[in-house]
Amino acid sequence: MILVLNAGSSSLKVEVFTSDLTSVLSGAVTSIGTDGAIKLGDETVRTKTANHADALAQMLDALAHAGITLDKLTAAAHRVVHGGTILTQPARVTPQVIAAIESAIPLAPLHNPNNLAAMLALQAVAPGLPQYASFGTAFHATNPAVATRYAIPQTEHDAGIRRYGFHGLSYAGMVASFGTALPARLLALHLGNGASLCAIKDGRSIATSMGYSPLSGLTMGTRSGDIDGAAVLRISAALGEDETDRMLNKNSGLKALGGDNDMRSLLNRHDAEAAFAVDHFCYWAARHAGSAIVAMGGVDAVAFTGGIGENAAPVRDKIMAFLACFGDVPVHIIAADEEKQIARDALTLMGPA
Ligand code: AMP
Repeated sequence: MILVLNAGSSSLKVEVFTSDLTSVLSGAVTSIGTDGAIKLGDETVRTKTANHADALAQMLDALAHAGITLDKLTAAAHRVVHGGTILTQPARVTPQVIAAIESAIPLAPLHNPNNLAAMLALQAVAPGLPQYASFGTAFHATNPAVATRYAIPQTEHDAGIRRYGFHGLSYAGMVASFGTALPARLLALHLGNGASLCAIKDGRSIATSMGYSPLSGLTMGTRSGDIDGAAVLRISAALGEDETDRMLNKNSGLKALGGDNDMRSLLNRHDAEAAFAVDHFCYWAARHAGSAIVAMGGVDAVAFTGGIGENAAPVRDKIMAFLACFGDVPVHIIAADEEKQIARDALTLMGPA
């Protein structure tokens, strides 16, 4: 069995898979660092965890109680948000890989340290257990330089100011789920609280709407999506860096336009403010879709995933109405399963049993 770990800023999610990628059990520790809960399967127990290492120890205990002891695991596989420019493929966790994840901390200061903490804590309690890592940015490593380069001086580019793209595990999982039926030019939209889209040509990402960080591109639940750098400078001069960061990442998007970051609630309301927020979301998704379609030289199919993409038919319909100018394109709805993709990556690296 493979234990997939996703260490977020204050949570640790786990899912256990068999070697044929069947999910056996999933759970999470929430509110790490304070009074939180540990949930495994249908059971939830309130608990207090000091840090990610402590959360992992408590989760391993809970798994053991559920019959999944460490000796039953053949590998652990981690989700790492940012692989930087070095980690462009899933990898076995080695000292070199740990150093590369550390070197990408400036690019994902809230996420990569937690991913590392989970790896090191697991290594300490299970030194013989092979560990693997999949990177949220890696799928976009195939984007051409013309797509990843910002038109700014080389020194800044060399310092890491370039487009990376995110949601890569979701897109890689989508490609895997199409199998041999994968369309040559696929417009993929991951629409959840975070939202992005990706031009996938012959199974490879060639353009994506997120850039240096997950802030850019589409209108999102609480993130602004694209905004002119000069506007950011002016807001920052008035409010300071931290408050600007909070505004653009946590208090913008649907929340700013509709007073609610939840698409389902917005669709259930019938006032002008909610309608405008939904229209803004769909319009900008379609504007970015046009750009991605041009990068692919056309489009053979569109695929939606994520909480909104999978469930919000009115949103899909509005976006597809804009895209009608590209002809009658087949639409697919694919369940996002990043954990399964992480397990799949680890199995591929492990090779035949
Ligand atoms: P995610 O980040 O992928 O979990 O997606 C969260 C978003 O999906 C929220 O905006 C939810 O309101 C939205 N969502 C989930 N289910 C539905 C639904 N049935 N109809 C509309 N939106 C939904």
